[in-house]
Amino acid sequence: MEEPTIFEKIISGDIPADIVLDGEGFLAFRDINPQAPEHVLVIPKTKIRGIHELNLLDAETLYAFMQGIRKTALHLGLEEGGYRVVFNTGKDAQQSVDYIHAHILGGRAMTWPPG
Ligand code: 5GP
Repeated sequence: MEEPTIFEKIISGDIPADIVLDGEGFLAFRDINPQAPEHVLVIPKTKIRGIHELNLLDAETLYAFMQGIRKTALHLGLEEGGYRVVFNTGKDAQQSVDYIHAHILGGRAMTWPPG
């Protein structure tokens, strides 16, 4: 059996997290190491490893996940100022948790290109 990732432990309640929204099919919680005034991670409650496994999610789960990103950004009040949504995917992008997650970053002006 594979060792559960940190995010599976957050879903199961085995490790604590600062939950922002616990929605149908998705969970949003604050990043432990924030890179912006608002930095929240959104995950589907069904595990896939990353964008490259999106084909393994059924349409309903994928829809709930995408809506979860929108609902979380709205909940944080970021729609007016704007925000960035990031999916670090794989080694070159320094993905460190092997469970798909959208970073929502907001509350400050961003620069481009990212490092
Ligand atoms: P990645 O580097 O894979 O794109 O993003 C993983 C994110 O998970 C990082 O920004 C990191 O700070 C966050 N993270 C790692 N461990 C924990 C944890 O135990 N709790 C929370 N809330 N965030 C975590």
